Amino acid sequence: MTKNKICIEIKNLNKSFGDTLAVDDVSLNIHENEFFTILGPSGCGKSTLLRLISGLEIQDKGSIIINGLDCSSIPANNRPVNMVFQSYALFPHLNIKDNIEFGLKLKKIPIKDIRQRVDNILDLIKMRDYIYKYPAELSGGQRQRVALARAIVNNPKIVLLDEPLSALDANLRIEMQQELVNIQRNLEITFMLVTHDQDEALSISSKIAIMENGKIIETNTSTNMYEYPIKKYSAEFLGRINIIDGYVLKKKQIFHSEIFGNIDLKGNENICENMVLAIRPEKIIIEKRKENKLNRIYAKGTITNSTYYGDMSYLTIELDNTKEIYIHVQNIHRNSLNELKIGKKLLASFDINDLILLEK
Ligand code: ADP
Repeated sequence: MTKNKICIEIKNLNKSFGDTLAVDDVSLNIHENEFFTILGPSGCGKSTLLRLISGLEIQDKGSIIINGLDCSSIPANNRPVNMVFQSYALFPHLNIKDNIEFGLKLKKIPIKDIRQRVDNILDLIKMRDYIYKYPAELSGGQRQRVALARAIVNNPKIVLLDEPLSALDANLRIEMQQELVNIQRNLEITFMLVTHDQDEALSISSKIAIMENGKIIETNTSTNMYEYPIKKYSAEFLGRINIIDGYVLKKKQIFHSEIFGNIDLKGNENICENMVLAIRPEKIIIEKRKENKLNRIYAKGTITNSTYYGDMSYLTIELDNTKEIYIHVQNIHRNSLNELKIGKKLLASFDINDLILLEK
């Protein structure tokens, strides 16, 4: 697959507030038409990084190149990016139409073009029936749509989104996530979003960068970040995971684990000593009996915790060697729910190929 051109190039960016190093030597390449998400816990520096790119903050060190132009010292209003905030930032005294038109009028775009562009965008955000309403008369989701319309109406190449959906309730949030993806695909804009919500990052992004304490820990496609993460921190931050403690016998290409004994790592590139093995809870299944299958690892245990989520049950299993593992089971049959109660004994198994080798 040919890669799109780089549209944002961040080089060794640093930003401190007093003693707080909010952005610590960050370098990143964001390509055209990517839906790129910065994911990390609250306070790790995500918003600061986005604000540096937009020009709302100025870095202490490093550079920001947007579409080949060094923007490091260009003021915010002259950078080729638009920003959408969590707080919508709509003008309360203007109706929806005037809110969306505002930036275009400021740029002295001919009124005929303004009408045309606003007309197109109203269908995209499904707000045609609301153009003469004021922000206070709209729901959170509708306000967020208008904020998005205002950011995309002047055909930007890049839109920066700072936790744009965090004020919405769960159902609306999922609906808006899908709309963001559709809008991004239809308009072929580069979206760069920051969020602390793992599910949101996974479901909407083409690429994710995980951030901790001002640093980018790992950048990967969203599928690979979940299925083939490289760093233990990213694997644990994105979804649940069982970490299998033990040590690597590098010469023999074997991982010795207390829970499962020796696990063959042959074929794995980049084995080094400072690694752990891990497996996602949904990759472990409950078996009726042990079979002599190639590459399968089995373990017996007792359910010590069971949480029912309707479609899934999350189980904690204490293995016969007293170690715990987590299993996520899909509730395919109603009449098998009884087997998932606390105290029940079971046999679990997984495929060696689903194990993940992680750098500590
Ligand atoms: P996030 O978006 O990941 O929640 P932020 O980028 O908002 O994190 O903040 C990163 C760190 O920088 C935090 O410790 C925060 O308190 C600090 N910080 C952010 N903005 C300012 C500011 N304007 N003044 C002082 N400290 C700030």
